[in-house]
Amino acid sequence: MNITEEWPTNSGRVCQAPSVDGWLKERGALWQDAPPFPPRGARAGVPPLPIWYGPDLDAGSVRDCRAGQNVRMRIDLASVAGSPERPNEDWVSAAIPALGGGVVVLLDGVTPPRGDDGCVHGVPWFTARLGGRLAELSGSRRDMPLDRILAEAIRATAAAHGDGCDLSHVRTPQATVVMARWDETQVEHLVLSDSVLLLQAPGGGVAAVVDDRLDRVPRAALRSEATADALRNAEGGFFTAAADPAVAARAVTGRTPRGDVRAVAALTDGASRWTDTFREGDWADCMAVLRKEGAEGLIGRVRAAESDPARPPARHKRHDDASAVYAEL
Ligand SMILES: [Zn+2]
Repeated sequence: MNITEEWPTNSGRVCQAPSVDGWLKERGALWQDAPPFPPRGARAGVPPLPIWYGPDLDAGSVRDCRAGQNVRMRIDLASVAGSPERPNEDWVSAAIPALGGGVVVLLDGVTPPRGDDGCVHGVPWFTARLGGRLAELSGSRRDMPLDRILAEAIRATAAAHGDGCDLSHVRTPQATVVMARWDETQVEHLVLSDSVLLLQAPGGGVAAVVDDRLDRVPRAALRSEATADALRNAEGGFFTAAADPAVAARAVTGRTPRGDVRAVAALTDGASRWTDTFREGDWADCMAVLRKEGAEGLIGRVRAAESDPARPPARHKRHDDASAVYAEL
């Protein structure tokens, strides 16, 4: 884009950035898409976009200013517990690192069957530890690919359990993982187990990235706790992030040129059921809901569908923990 304007930063210095019209034209967006709040460092006569999230820069430092491309970004997330009697086992986070680009991380803790799981901590402890490490590393270590970050986060979380937990137990706390990280050139993604990542192209088309190993397991096999345990993190079964860093090699990973992605979304299965279970709309419709109504709007639609007396109960729980994060790049 060659249309640029100068923008004030908090320090009063000037950062050169794409103009509002250029920014909107590049993304095929409309003026009414602009968020209503004023930018940092706004002054009279300066229109409300673009927003510069990066560090204050020396005047005329165009290269540094454009390096992260955080000219304007919208990230929206929500997480709603399936039951007020149980802790929410989902975990969701987003980061806009000062060095530019962004990260979203979403986990769905696997609810263990009743009985021993070898751990004194529990699933919410595990997802908080694992998610926190994933967010920290993906936001600070751009030199590490996402599968290496997942392996390191699993290793660190396993060490944090301490000696009081039996990490060889097949039901040791575990979770699904979705990560997306972008910079000025590419969007990286990682999906492990049955949470969903959506990538939307500038033209509006939406691709779903899924790890469908769990879907390929016969339903009958999962009805028995013994057979489900035998398939958990086992060849021919399905894989989750638990205590073995080697599982990171099983994740679905990929990279997409940044210019081919307008928005990303990550959904736990409690939220993705709006499309993949209830068939209320396809993935493009799901992205449209996220864009217009936000993550909370999508989860509200899921809850409405779940409460419809004409609809048969969902596969496992009537209401599951539901989380969604939506980012317009
Ligand atoms: Zn533990």
